[in-house]
Formats: sequence, structure tokens, C-alpha cells
Amino acid sequence: MIAVQSVETDRRANLFHFTRLQRPIVDRADGIYLWDKSGRRYIDGSSGAVNVNVGHGNRNVIDAMKRQLDRVSFAYIFQFENEQAIELARGLADRLPNGLNRIYFVSGGSEAIEACLKLARQWAVSTGQDKRWKIIGRMPSYHGVTIGTLAVTGDDILTKTFDAIGRPMPLVPAPFVHRDHDNLSMEQRGIRYADMLEEKILEEGPESVLAFVMEPIGGAATAALVPPNSYFPRIREICDRYGILLIHDEVMTGIGRTGKFLGGDHWSCRPDIVALSKGLSSGYAPLGALAATQRIVGPVVETGGFLHGHTYGGNPVACAAGVAVLGEVDRLGLVENSAVMGELLRGELEALTRRFPFIADVRGKGLFMGAEIYADPLAKEPLPQGLNANLRLIDLAFERGLIIYSRRVRGGPVSDNFMVCPPLIVTSDQIGEIIAVLGDSLQALAAELDLPVEGRG
Ligand code: PLP
Repeated sequence: MIAVQSVETDRRANLFHFTRLQRPIVDRADGIYLWDKSGRRYIDGSSGAVNVNVGHGNRNVIDAMKRQLDRVSFAYIFQFENEQAIELARGLADRLPNGLNRIYFVSGGSEAIEACLKLARQWAVSTGQDKRWKIIGRMPSYHGVTIGTLAVTGDDILTKTFDAIGRPMPLVPAPFVHRDHDNLSMEQRGIRYADMLEEKILEEGPESVLAFVMEPIGGAATAALVPPNSYFPRIREICDRYGILLIHDEVMTGIGRTGKFLGGDHWSCRPDIVALSKGLSSGYAPLGALAATQRIVGPVVETGGFLHGHTYGGNPVACAAGVAVLGEVDRLGLVENSAVMGELLRGELEALTRRFPFIADVRGKGLFMGAEIYADPLAKEPLPQGLNANLRLIDLAFERGLIIYSRRVRGGPVSDNFMVCPPLIVTSDQIGEIIAVLGDSLQALAAELDLPVEGRG
């Protein structure tokens, strides 16, 4: 028998993550709620790490996984194919646009991006373009925590320590168009930011550039940053002009999160490779995928196959979760619900900006919404960074039983943003609940930091 240690001793032995919160121990979860061991209830206004798209405790997903565990819990992908991986690949290929029908499974978002970068490089070598190796990313951005993904991530806090052992790639500014002070229209600014990619390509030498990687709607680093419409076609045009691959990181934005199946579907984007994870298994199992076109995969297969593969790639239980999640997304109409509830949430957040004039720039699509906290929203003047206003806000909300999402990032415009991204099953009453607690939390933040509140003084 295993000796029972005290919970505190066990907790010290647990893994350490880059979190600053003293976290309670979770007990159970259902729908959009979680409960801790003391019985306190929390509204999951962040869907965990913006991944629990179908909500907690979904019986159909749990039962599908149990059935798969009873049949085959593991079969090594180099020895056997499995029906769940085949079905999930077909389900994704049917839903993805523009010939993104060659699917490769991994176990998470960082692994998905790593696989995208390696596939892009192997495509170049397979097609006699060995000189192409630079992958341009954006500042700020988030693509994961492994050495390869950090190389294209724009966040000095996460990357600098590890630059010495990785190979940091060129970055272009993310399109923070709402922060610019110029006479251009938003669409003109969109073009200007896209053109910065071309400038960077020319600076680096077009023959050395392999790919451009971006989140179509920025997530953790930029809090639902939506570029102007003009940005997307211009980026594709530039990539085509120089023979550069376009990689979309849809790890956060994929699987209905933004009110379309992919974030890029809002603009009918045509990426060459897409990374998926998070909502793909909705947190029920570690799962990620890349989807690529035959143009990319064909030469790689013909020259011996993808030089890549993890023990848990295409895991049957994880893929069973993925198949069941796609089924639930369809059955419950979650892409549509994300679009409809997202508009309701946007309206409520806009209303909060009138009550709390220090928040502004409500943005996002579907249930992928963000906003900024400013010292002066008109001048776009940030609060002193030492205040850590965004982190204080998430603590105040957590104390009140609401989980929202925010990270501190270094690089690009200084920002105190936060995100509200509940599971895609959220109802209008529950949006009301989220907004009520968020309002209380903003009130508390205003009192602590002496920020202006409508009707005060
Ligand atoms: N890419 C994006 C856009 C993400 O938001 C994340 C995680 O937040 C990742 C990649 C990395 O995913 P994971 O945490 O599963 O490694």
C-alpha cells in the first residue's frame, strides 16, 4: 500500500508551473463551473486555458473515451493505425478549408507548432530549397514553450533566458492598429502592418525565408487582437510573392472558439499549414494536430516521409476524445452559439467600459473577447507597469468566484489586457452572471488603484 502523505507534502512534490497564484485544489467540474475542495464554486470564464470549448463533464466525450479505453488504450502509431485517429483526421479534413486535408496528430499546442515548423523546413529541403530556414514570427505573440516554438514567440519574458540554446527568429510587429496615432484609416494600417512582413523578408534576404507564422486572432500575448480585414489578403499576397509558407497558429482560435470553425475562416484565409490543439479535445485528453495541404505534404512523403513522431502521436484515447468533441460541437451547434453569445458578451463588455472608463478597446470574435485597462483610454496611456493591474484584476475576480485570463508579456506596446472566453456552451443567463462578477471585480480594482468610475465624485 502506498503511504498516505499529508496533502501539503504531496503538493510540494507536484510540478511547478510559471504561475503566481496560490491555487486551490480542484474537486469537480460541470458545464461552465468548477468547485474546489472547500466547496467554493468558480465560473470558468476562461475555459481553463481557453481550451474547454465543450464545457466540463460532457457525458458523450467521457463515455467515448471510456469505450476506447476498454477496447485499446494504446497502440504505437509506427506499428498500428487506429480507427479513432482515422476518423478524427477525416472529421477535420471535412471541416477545414482550402485543401488542408493532410492531418498529423500530436499531444498539445507547442508540439503542434513544433511539427508545423519542422514540416515547413522538410518541405523546403524536399523541394530543393535548402537555403530557406528562417521563420518570421510576430512581436508580441505566443506559440508555446519548447525551444523551437520559443524561437518564433514574441515575448521577452519567456524567450530571453533560452535564446542562447535556441535560434531566435526575426519578428515583425503584431498589428496593434488601435494603439497607433496617425491619420491612416484602420484598413490602411492593416496594409501597413502587413507590408512590414515584406520589409522584413527583404531585409533578411527572400531566398533564406521559409515561412511566416501568426495567430489569425492574437491570443495570450495580445488578448484577442483582431487585425483589420485588409491585413489578411496582403499577408497571403506577400507570402506568395516570395514563395514563403503561411502557418496559422489556431491552437487557441480553432474549433469554433471565435464563431467560425477556424479563426482564419472569418477572412477566408488560405494558410499552407495550420496548428490545432486546445478545443480539439476540449481538455479531456492531451491532443494537438497539424493540418497541411497536399502541396506541402506530397514532396515530404515522396522523399521518405516526415522525420518526426512522438510516442503519443495519434493516441487512440485522445483521438476518441477528439472525435466525440467534434460530434458535440455539431450536435450542440457550438460554432453558432459562440458567434451569438460572443456578440452578447461584446455588448456587455462595451457597457462595462461606460461604467468603468479605464477599460477600453473591447475586441475579439465569438467567445474570444479581450479588452485593455488604461490610465487614459483616449490617449491610450497605460497604467504604471509596477501596478500589474491586469494580474490584480484576475486575482480580484478569482476571489469573487470568476476565472478570467490574462498574462504579462514583454515586447510590443505596453499593455494591461484581459480576456473573457467562457466555454462555447455558455447561455445568456450565464453571460449575465460573468458580467455581474466582472463588474464587482472592476469596482474593487478601481477602489484599490483609485481609477475613475462613472458617477463617482
Ligand atoms: N499556440 C497558441 C496560440 C497558444 O495559445 C498556446 C497555448 O496557450 C500554444 C501555442 C501552446 O500550447 P500548449 O500549451 O498546449 O503547449
